[in-house]
Amino acid sequence: MTKHFLFCGPSGSGKTSIVKYLLAKYHFMRFSISATTRPKRAHETEGQDYYFMTIENFRNHIEQNHFVEWEQVYEGRYYGTLKSEIERIEAINCSVVFDVDVEGGLKIKQHFGSNLLAVFIRPPSAEDLRERLIARNTETAESLEIRLNKSIKELEYENRFDNIIINDDLEQSCLKAEVLVNTFLSH
Ligand code: 5GP
Repeated sequence: MTKHFLFCGPSGSGKTSIVKYLLAKYHFMRFSISATTRPKRAHETEGQDYYFMTIENFRNHIEQNHFVEWEQVYEGRYYGTLKSEIERIEAINCSVVFDVDVEGGLKIKQHFGSNLLAVFIRPPSAEDLRERLIARNTETAESLEIRLNKSIKELEYENRFDNIIINDDLEQSCLKAEVLVNTFLSH
């Protein structure tokens, strides 16, 4: 059975940077491209970062039971993991790497059981989280507050994951993630 990897944590925790590092290093890993109804950011590519879709299209996928999990992560903003995405990656004998929110992550963890390594990425502090979200400069003042409030709630779930990485230094965190991956693969 193929092993898969899940990285969860608040928006701004740095989980996406860690995931990108692992994907560049381990060529047997493939990123699970989620579907979302949020607008595409300037640097993002359709079918690479996300499958961007209308709310109507997303709802059709829900009705047809196409998702392993989906969440309304923010008001009116839906995100979900399509079953077809996992099938696409498993068909080429690769491991799936998930970067999803905490609730979606717990559903994925339940779906894959012990074939999945579930890692929680924690920012060193709430203040640090705020600074990172501001520095990222992708949010308006309003959406920044929404993301920050959600992120603070998400911190309460960290003990439900297999491992926690406190991301106070990205380089060190990437190395820690690498060790966790290698250990998981060797068992
Ligand atoms: P962003 O809008 O910054 O790309 O992502 C916002 C949040 O949605 C992040 O925490 C991200 O991990 C999460 N997310 C991305 N894809 C999915 C998904 O397929 N399912 C769920 N539940 N969350 C997702």
